[in-house]
Amino acid sequence: MYSFPSVRHKMEYVCTKCGARHSIDELLYTCPACGGVLLLNDTEFEKYTEISGKTWQEIFDARRASDCRALKGIFRFYELMAPVLEEEDIIYLGDGHSPVVEASKALKDKLGLDFAFKHEGQNPSASFKDRGMAGAFSYLRSMVRRHGWDNILTICASTGDTSAAAALYGAYVGDPIKTVVLLPEGKVTPQQLSQPLGSGATVLQIPGVFDDCMKVVEYLAAHYRVALLNSKNSWRILGQESYAYEVAQEYRWNLAGKALFVPIGNAGNITAVMSGLIKMKRLNIIEELPRLFGVQSHHADPVYQYYSQNKEHRTYSPVEVKPSVAQAAMIGNPVSFPRVQKLAAQYEALGGDFNVVQVTEQAIMDAMIIANMHGHIACTQGGECLAGLIKAKEEGKIGHEFAVLDATAHALKFAGFQEMYFTGTLPGYFGISPKENLQNLPHTVISQERKNLLSKEEYTAEAAHNIAKYMNLLEKQ
Ligand SMILES: *Cc1c(COP(=O)(O)O)cnc(C)c1O
Ligand SMILES: [Zn+2]
Repeated sequence: MYSFPSVRHKMEYVCTKCGARHSIDELLYTCPACGGVLLLNDTEFEKYTEISGKTWQEIFDARRASDCRALKGIFRFYELMAPVLEEEDIIYLGDGHSPVVEASKALKDKLGLDFAFKHEGQNPSASFKDRGMAGAFSYLRSMVRRHGWDNILTICASTGDTSAAAALYGAYVGDPIKTVVLLPEGKVTPQQLSQPLGSGATVLQIPGVFDDCMKVVEYLAAHYRVALLNSKNSWRILGQESYAYEVAQEYRWNLAGKALFVPIGNAGNITAVMSGLIKMKRLNIIEELPRLFGVQSHHADPVYQYYSQNKEHRTYSPVEVKPSVAQAAMIGNPVSFPRVQKLAAQYEALGGDFNVVQVTEQAIMDAMIIANMHGHIACTQGGECLAGLIKAKEEGKIGHEFAVLDATAHALKFAGFQEMYFTGTLPGYFGISPKENLQNLPHTVISQERKNLLSKEEYTAEAAHNIAKYMNLLEKQ
């Protein structure tokens, strides 16, 4: 239990469109037969049902104490993700095991809601994308080892965090892997741009939005020898399933009465979370599926539009995105939409309940700031989740469930939006009016002119007196 598992399974790609199966010994992103997106399937998964759900729980709990390096991160749940990898292939950079922080009493009372955030910003590159990269790079390493490749170029299109994670893992692995990232110029935050640059990746940009970058990268992957690291890469989905396993483990494998909220952009993460929950249910690791809510901004809501239609005749159409503060989820044509469709049907067949709620840009910013003013480190997408919970409550879609909100990245990556909110400089196209009681700005207590006039001692005393006056401090007796 404490050492690396010795059993290996067979895995294959399965096309979500035509059902064709393909060998994992090739780097595949779409089905060679029909172009559909793929999912990875463990052909021997059924064998795991011979082990009781309780035993699985014990195995995963015991591994919390393991000092096996390869099991320290997301691969604690090895059998549920990629039981084809060897110990030496697995990369661990401190990914996974992000803290679940329960909302303070004041925040719960203020909103009349019961919930916690899982702070994915405490992953190594400060977003959940590290889970996926740990999966994708571990698989790439196994391919390099088995095929003796001496040169491999990875590429991804990104709204910021995918490239930060790809560049970090690529930099760690080093030869023979080189990392290139393609960004929409001016559409990632300065913090996010600094990450792949700092990791030494080749950073390319084009005018446009994420959807434009994605098309270029897909064209490249179709015509040239490159390894694609977007969530079309199914190994990323496997790695991101670890989020669901961790949430279950956090609550002692009991997700009855829980509701999970996940922001949807390219829909890789919601796919992964759903897939993980389904696997745990199939192995009786959890008895009941939690309720699952996707959240989208009204400025980028194709998945919401689809699921808000009558179940019998839903049609999917991509949307033209408008600017969103939840920039990492600002995607009009999510690559993983067919995966969501497929898995949501399975989820419901197993007794689960999948919903998508739509929130305004205003609600996203207000929620992010309220959360952080109560001790969280939510990014705008984390704010989107909280806004989603508030909306679900308003619409009567949720009752007394305890909600676990995915704060997908660290607040610091999106500090620019906070600053614009505080200074009232958010461009009009977001449609956000900052609430005065949620704004916070620094207050200068003494001027440079005064400093120039005063001795050092006088300056210290005057600054202190000014603070005392500003804060209404009482003098010591
Ligand atoms: C990528 C990302 C999302 C969206 O996740 P998808 O898998 O694309 O749906 C949300 N929040 C953050 C911070 C992200 O980096
Ligand atoms: Zn196919």
